[in-house]
Amino acid sequence: MCEFCLKHGEGKKWYLQARNYSDELLSDIRRRRMIEDFFSNPDRLTRGIEHLNRLEKTPKFIRSMIGRIITGRQKKTHFGQVVPIEEIEKIFGFVSSIVRVACICRHVTLNQEKRYCYGVSMSPNGGELTKIMRGLDKSFLAGPDLSGLETLSKEEAVSAFRDHEREGLCHTVWTFQSPFIGGVCNCDRSDCLAMRCTVTHSIPVMFRAEYIAEVDPDVCIGCRECMRVCQFGAIVYSASTRKVAIDQRRCYGCGICRSLCKKNAIRLNDRNKVPAAANLW
Ligand code: SF4
Ligand code: SF4
Repeated sequence: MCEFCLKHGEGKKWYLQARNYSDELLSDIRRRRMIEDFFSNPDRLTRGIEHLNRLEKTPKFIRSMIGRIITGRQKKTHFGQVVPIEEIEKIFGFVSSIVRVACICRHVTLNQEKRYCYGVSMSPNGGELTKIMRGLDKSFLAGPDLSGLETLSKEEAVSAFRDHEREGLCHTVWTFQSPFIGGVCNCDRSDCLAMRCTVTHSIPVMFRAEYIAEVDPDVCIGCRECMRVCQFGAIVYSASTRKVAIDQRRCYGCGICRSLCKKNAIRLNDRNKVPAAANLW
């Protein structure tokens, strides 16, 4: 179990607890302000990228000290976890509404509108979260006429996530002032700032999934298609066996390799039951 499961899930998966999505948590004025700032101030993310790049040039001990401070702060404000598609389906199964919005990271990194982010709420029509977002000037995302909080049915949302999975995007769940969960996203290492921060700069702002991948060597034919889609460099090919295996220290348990393997040679196991990975978050 990750730290949030213990702290915000009473020992169960924290992102499957309906109370962590509830509108009641949005009566906290600090949380509302944080959400407003997050969606109306993309320059903050641009500055974040500049800081991270500058940090790379500092001595290692300073980098790791500042990294720990950033991780600690993010755990309180905006922290995520990788979740495989079956867990996304469970989340969509119990929330009352799902809205799709443009991704603020891609706005900053690509200057493009990419609709990879989904707001989720226990209340109909997006609840308080949608009200907050509708009240903001989001013209930076989709032009002055932001008709753009698309409401999706559960089936439409699951289908969209399956499409994102085929694109090789990694599903993640996100807090806004933890433990309130406001959204689920589809990330990649080049464009998503949280993934860049966590994987490229080694400053974690998201946990690995509660799962870890395993390859069945009797089924694997060594085509290496899975290596092409793993964003974490966690799949290694052996020329002697002509098969691949998972590097357990690197696997985030996203399951993207599994869905791309035509031979069904990859499965996800409970991370807690894999001794080498149980304490890797
Ligand atoms: S995609 Fe499947 S069959 Fe191909 S190398 Fe990966 S695990 Fe093996
Ligand atoms: S090995 Fe598979 S499950 Fe693990 S991080 Fe890579 S794509 Fe995700």
